[in-house]
Amino acid sequence: MAQKDFTMSISVDAVTKIYGRQKALDTVSFEIKTGEIVGYLGPNGAGKSTMMKIITGFLPQTTGTVKVCDIDTREYSDTFRRKIGYLPEHNPLYPEMYIKEYLNLVAGIYKLPNKKSRVQEMIELTGLGYEQHKQIGALSKGYRQRVGLAQALIHNPEVLILDEPTTGLDPNQIVEVRNLIKSIGREKTVMLSTHIMQEVEAICERVIIINKGRIVADQKANELTGIKNNESIVEVEFEKQPDLKKLNQIPGVVSVEIQANGIIQLSSESDTDIRKEVFQFAVSEGLVLLSMNRKEQGLEEIFHSLTQS
Ligand code: ADP
Ligand code: MG
Repeated sequence: MAQKDFTMSISVDAVTKIYGRQKALDTVSFEIKTGEIVGYLGPNGAGKSTMMKIITGFLPQTTGTVKVCDIDTREYSDTFRRKIGYLPEHNPLYPEMYIKEYLNLVAGIYKLPNKKSRVQEMIELTGLGYEQHKQIGALSKGYRQRVGLAQALIHNPEVLILDEPTTGLDPNQIVEVRNLIKSIGREKTVMLSTHIMQEVEAICERVIIINKGRIVADQKANELTGIKNNESIVEVEFEKQPDLKKLNQIPGVVSVEIQANGIIQLSSESDTDIRKEVFQFAVSEGLVLLSMNRKEQGLEEIFHSLTQS
């Protein structure tokens, strides 16, 4: 019999979700290893929240199998619930409750033995100390998100599922919450969804990109820039503007575009580097080359090219 791989914290196998007539997820498969921090990236409506609700056992899939720490989500047992911390997209908090009161309630649901000290620990960990006597409704969105994180962490789960944890926060709060997630992520398996590319760069080791219910990329975050697009661009600046027709004749050049600032964009097939040819062109035409650089595709462009269609 094959050995089971217990190092997988999340395993999603051919999951499809159909709402009425709409296929929100289409045979999605991926695995997340214990200890990974994975960004689940996609535009609005891609199927991020749906996947997360299925992983956390809140929503049944139409077909396929999901296991968290080797337990099938359909079991939805106490043991299963203890493994997972979940920050839903619309963090449902009780505005009239006090922070401590709410966290105590959550600790009670998990039947934690050391309720009081655990609540206090969470307040410290999520930086709520200063606000701890307030009602949830009196908190800023950033602080409410911290309460949501405290709620997700209180039972010390192995796996954390965070649905757009920084959406709606101001730039300072975003940095604070990201840092908090990063430090929590040292000890846990984290899957976080976002539609913001920079979020992935800031927090995640790996990124899964979903578009219209299908996975379109699954890579290490630092390898994503290596994904091939259909074209590669070299930007050049000459002292004098050369003849457009001649530029088009440089071997490998597919198209030429002159920008308002005079910089010329030459595009070629993605795997051809035309810089040598451009240099030789300048020499043979007696043109002075002021600058030339091959544009690296940023994560933003890659995301765009993978999710537009
Ligand atoms: P994301 O979180 O990536 O924005 P969702 O998972 O919320 O995407 O939604 C994926 C698709 O499924 C969207 O087209 C959305 O309109 C649809 N959808 C989500 N929830 C429901 C629902 N309860 N009933 C019908 N359609 C839904
Ligand atoms: Mg969503």
